[in-house]
Parts: sequence; C-alpha cells; structure tokens
Amino acid sequence: MKYLLTFSLLVLITSTSLCQEIPQLNWAELGKTKPWEATEVWNPVPAKVTPGVYTAPPSDAIVLFNGQDLDQWVSPEVDYGARMDVVEAILKKRMNGYSKSPAAWEVKDGECIVRPGSGAIETKMGFGDMQLHIEWLCPTDPGKEGQAYSNSGIFFMSLYELQVLNAYENTTYPNGQAGSMYKQAIPLVNVSRPSGEWQSYDAVFMAPKFKSDGSVESPAYITVFHNGVLIQNHVALKGPCVYIGEPYYIAHPDKMPLLLQDHGDKVRYRNIWVRNL
Ligand code: MG
Repeated sequence: MKYLLTFSLLVLITSTSLCQEIPQLNWAELGKTKPWEATEVWNPVPAKVTPGVYTAPPSDAIVLFNGQDLDQWVSPEVDYGARMDVVEAILKKRMNGYSKSPAAWEVKDGECIVRPGSGAIETKMGFGDMQLHIEWLCPTDPGKEGQAYSNSGIFFMSLYELQVLNAYENTTYPNGQAGSMYKQAIPLVNVSRPSGEWQSYDAVFMAPKFKSDGSVESPAYITVFHNGVLIQNHVALKGPCVYIGEPYYIAHPDKMPLLLQDHGDKVRYRNIWVRNL
C-alpha cells in the first residue's frame, strides 16, 4: 500500500511538470503597453565615425605624422629613464618645465627616420587613454643582432614602452622582443615581418590613475595588435618600463607626450595617428 502511494505521488509530480506549458505571448495584448520599450537604451548615441581605408586615419583621429613634416613633434631636453631613480628625476623635471627644440629626426619620402644620437622625439600634445596606430620598419642591417638590431620603441606617456625591434629570426630575451611591453610582458605570439618590410601596431592604452596621496588607484593597461594579430591582451603594467631593476609607479599627470625612442638605429615610422578615449 505504502509503495502504491509513493508511486502515485511520483506519477502526479511527473505529469504536472510535463504539463507545464511554455508561456505563449499574446502580442496583441502586449502591444497595448509595449513592455519591451522599458529595456531599450537610446542614450547616449555613439558618435558616427567614418572608417579609414585600410590603415588610413578615421575621421576623428589626431594625425601625428602624415608623411609631410614633424610639426606635431619636438626633441625634448628630457628623455626616458633606464632606471627608476632616473625616471623619477626626469618626471620631476617634466613637471617643473623643460626645454624643447624642433624635432631632429629626418623626414624623407613620406617617412620619419630616427636620427641616431639626436635623442627621442615626443608629441607636443599630451595623451592619456588612447588608441594608437603606428607603422614602422626595421632596416636590414647584416651583422647586427639581439637588442642592437633596429631597436626603437613607443613610449606611452613617455614612460611605458612598447618595444620596436627586428624580431624576425633575431634572438633576444622575449620580454624585450618586438611587441613586448619592455621587460614586463612577453607578446602572445611573434607576428614579426622580416626587416625591410613595413609593420603596424594598433594599441589601446589606458593610463594609470592615481589617488590624491600619490598611490595607485588603477594601473596602466595595454592591448596591442601587431600586424593585425593580438599580442597583448589587456595587460596591467607594473610601472614605467625600465632597463635596469624593478619598476614601480610614480604619480604623474593625466596626460603626457607620446615618445619615440632613439636607440641608435635608423628605424623608420609612418602613418601615425591616435584617438583620445
Ligand atoms: Mg626599445
């Protein structure tokens, strides 16, 4: 008897759940109150942007180099720092004012070429969160190797270096090869083209945020595509990219120049544009 009761109960539960129907929406009835409108978000409307052809700048880009001149750039008295104590001193100098002269690099055939020994160049404008497109070429230079083969670099905020180097069949430490955030993040893959061929970086850089007491509220983040392939995926940086020692953050302004490194090699750049984010 007991088993019979249990069995009957089970049948009842099963049949009830099987009978549960999928709700049928009465569109004619719903049309009177239009409840779907409650979840439609109409503002803000994203600004219309005309996409560029291939890598040409989109309509809202700030063009930093279009092949004509270096009017958007200067040669700064200060540079980047190879060690944190140097970075610290440079930052102090940057905040207290430093001299700048017309950008000393060469412009030829629509390209901007590092003039070895002249030092870095940096933008007149300061940038914080930004999207960057930049094309670069490592000249073929037999006999050179490692970090000495077509080294340059793109320093976001003049502090955080995305390495430029010939990394095509040229061995070096991976956290210093092309596409690395120098000494901090190895690229996910090596998408390098051979020396003598143009390459591109497309990057999204998010500036670090500092609290009023100078401590870090959020670190800098970087995402990079090298020749169209993802190589850095929202990587948090530990501080400025330095050659010697461990990095740490030092509070700095919200916007600072984009800097291109003179490492003694005639690396070439073209088609440089940014979008403020
Ligand atoms: Mg470099």
